[in-house]
This record gives sequence, structure tokens and C-alpha cells, in this order.
Amino acid sequence: MTEARRVGVIGAGMVGVCVASYLQRDGHSVFLIEPGNPGEGASFGNAGAFNASSVTPIAMPGVIKNVPKWLRDPLGPLSLRWSYLPAVLPYLYRFWRAGTVEKVHAQARALRALVGPTLQMLRPLVEDAGAADLVEQRGHLYVYRSAEALAKDGLAWALRRANGVVVDAFDADELRQLEPALSRDYVRGLLVRENGHTSNPLGLVTRLVDEFRRRGGEIVRARALGFRLDGPRLTAIRTDTGDRAADAAVVCAGAWSKPLAHTLGDHVPLETERGYHLMISDPEAMPRIPTADADGKFVATPMALGLRFAGTVELAGLAAPPDWRRAHILLEQGRRMLPGLAAHHPAERISVWMGHRPSLPDSLPVLGPARASPDVIYAFGHGHVGMTAAPMTGRIVADLVTGRKSPIDLAPFAADRFR
Ligand SMILES: Cc1cc2nc3c(=O)[nH]c(=O)nc-3n(C[C@H](O)[C@H](O)[C@H](O)COP(=O)(O)OP(=O)(O)OC[C@H]3O[C@@H](n4cnc5c(N)ncnc54)[C@H](O)[C@@H]3O)c2cc1C
Repeated sequence: MTEARRVGVIGAGMVGVCVASYLQRDGHSVFLIEPGNPGEGASFGNAGAFNASSVTPIAMPGVIKNVPKWLRDPLGPLSLRWSYLPAVLPYLYRFWRAGTVEKVHAQARALRALVGPTLQMLRPLVEDAGAADLVEQRGHLYVYRSAEALAKDGLAWALRRANGVVVDAFDADELRQLEPALSRDYVRGLLVRENGHTSNPLGLVTRLVDEFRRRGGEIVRARALGFRLDGPRLTAIRTDTGDRAADAAVVCAGAWSKPLAHTLGDHVPLETERGYHLMISDPEAMPRIPTADADGKFVATPMALGLRFAGTVELAGLAAPPDWRRAHILLEQGRRMLPGLAAHHPAERISVWMGHRPSLPDSLPVLGPARASPDVIYAFGHGHVGMTAAPMTGRIVADLVTGRKSPIDLAPFAADRFR
């Protein structure tokens, strides 16, 4: 074990905040570097699911074949800004290469190690932060409109089961009893009881940050630009408000992490999969259990502030303005899922959001030391499962910084795996 170190954690999303919290518990002196408000990146508007069963990569075998159909469908789960196509092509090529049967089995095993213990790893943090009321374990329900649609997802369910996920299957009548608010069009439901969710993602991050501060943690309002090294040893983190002395750093800047890794010679194919949410306050109907429409690829989550529909993928980079039609599509789909919702809602009851999932082509984050310095640890690129994976990521990073062995094999998460 090393002595207590001065550690700068770059980025105060859910990942950075869990990392900072676990580092503090090991006795390190920790500061978070964040140019905006903590928790207002991707961690703000997600579906709030802590899904230990989220082991299926996005690049499943054959998924690429659906792309033309999805792109043609204005209600489809994927959209692309054509001007962005040249920039995203290398990512799509790697995405296609990642989706073999053999590779997705390996990715699922790696993901299970990271997301499986999510609630167990989150519990000590939320209990200390007085945030236990924001996390519940009601399971996660996946619903299908036909037996054929469920059969098409056969490999995904096989991967979950092969990794120890216990699944309860419901037919149309049982589904109606379980979630009466759902449309009768759904005829199959699969419930994973081990999954949990937060009723308020921003509230959760905020309370964890408050606890981090109470324990002596500091928030530095700045944007990290790079690192100062003396040989392989870190001496400081460069920021737009000057250097911050540190003897370890953790890169948790989500979708914005690529240039920071680049400064250390690590070229990672990080992309942003933009996603949207639409919320209805005081909804006329709401599921009790977070529910995923498996075909539409969106989730309806009961939240403290109303009903949240979240999902869809848009490939358009970090800079393009949001296309709010993508959020309103979720409302259309949500009304089909929950027919008890009114056909029209006044504008003041609707809110929309766009956020940047930090994604790698094989749906695994980058987790482990930088090539140029063992003092800089990467913890970014958690894609669709960053809320879920954040607590275990925090535990792993604290182990590495403290000089303990990682509790899981980090080889699948290496920064240089795409070389
Ligand atoms: C629609 C949608 C639904 C989702 N649903 C779920 C879900 O149900 N469950 C789940 O597990 N995941 C879900 N996700 C994914 C999840 O939200 C993300 O994976 C996760 O929030 C990423 O967390 P993060 O801390 O890495 O990034 P972020 O929350 O984006 O935080 C990164 C932070 O770094 C800061 N930053 C950027 N550049 C710098 C810099 N140079 N220096 C310092 N700081 C910097 C940013 O300001 C930001 O605050 C969803 C995502 C979307 C878009």
C-alpha cells in the first residue's frame, strides 16, 4: 500500500464523484476538477437505471444490418447527422468489428464484473451521504410486442443468463397484473429483480458531492488541459486556471476525455452517442418499475419529478446543437407504451434534455493506467452504463491509486486495446 496521496479527479459526473468518494475512504487528499456544475454532464438526464444485468454490448452481432432501417425510420432509435459521417466512420468500422459472437461473450463477461456489484458498491456511498432514499431496487422490466421480437433478442438474454442474471418471464396477462399502466400491445415481459434505479440522478450526484466536501474534498472550478510529468511521475495537472500540484490524477471527463488521454500518447476511439430525455411532470400514468421498450430502445423511469422517457442514439459529435425532435419522438413512443397518458400536455409540464454518452466501439470503458505514467489513471467511456458502472469503477480506481491489485481483470479495458 502507498501512503496517502494528493489526487486530482478530472470531471465531476457520476464516475468522477464515485472515484473521488472511494479515494477519500482510502485516506487520500482528493480534489475534483470541474468547469461546470457537478453532475450536469451525461449524469444529469439519464434513465437512472443501476442495472447489474447490463452486460450486452451495443455492437451485437447483426446489429449493423438494422442501421439502414433505423436511419430511415423517423421514430427509430438511431439518427446520424450526415455531415458527421466522415468523422464517425472509423468508429463505425471498429463498432462493426467488435460485434462478433465470440467478442460479445468476452465483452459481456468483462461488463458483468464491472456492473454486477453496482448496488453493493453504491450502498456505502449513499448511506454515508444520506442519499439512500434516492435509490430503490424494484427491478427492471423489458417488454416486447411479440414473441418474435423477444426471440430476436435471444442472444442478449443468453448473455445475461450466462453471466448469472436471474430473469423472470411474464406472459401478457401476468404483465398486465405486474404493470397495469402498460399498453396491452405488450405480450411478453422479462423482469430482472436484482436491478435498481435512482429517482433523481442529479440529486444523487449532488448529495455525493456534498458528502465529499464534508469529508474535506475540494472542488476546483477549472478545465483540465493536460499533465506535468517528471519522467514518468506526475507532478501537476495543467488547467485553464493554472497548474494544480498532484501526485496522482484520474481522468473521468466522460465524452470529453479523448484530448486528455491524447496528451499522454494514448489515442482512444472515444465517440459521443448523444441521447435524449423527455419528462412529463404529474403524469396521468406511470410504471412502478423502470421499463424498457426493447424494440424502441427507450426506457420509462418513474422519477421524483415525474415520468422520464430516455434513450435513442444520435451520432453528431460534441459540438452540434441538440435536435429536439429526437426528444419529442420519445413522447410519441411513450404515449404508445402508456395509453393512460394524455394525448396533449401543456408545454410547462414537458421538459427535454440532451446528453453525451462517452462510448467506445466495444461498449467497454477505458479503465487503467496511462501509458506515459502510472500516476494517471483513466476511468472514462462508460457509454450506456455509466451510472451503473460508476460505483465499481470508483472502488477499482481507489485500489490502483492505493497500490492494491484490482479486484477484476482490467485487460479488456486497456487504453491500447484498439491499436
Ligand atoms: C439518454 C441517456 C440515458 C442513459 N441511461 C442510463 C441508465 O439508465 N443507466 C446507466 O448506467 N447509464 C445511463 N446512461 C449513461 C450514463 O448517463 C453515462 O454513461 C454516465 O453519466 C457517464 O458519466 P461520466 O461521469 O463518465 O460523464 P459525465 O456525467 O458526462 O461527466 C463528465 C464531467 O467531466 C467534465 N469535464 C469535461 N471536460 C473536462 C475537463 N477538460 N476538465 C475537467 N472536467 C471536464 C464535464 O463538465 C462533466 O461534468 C444514459 C445516457 C443517456 C444519454
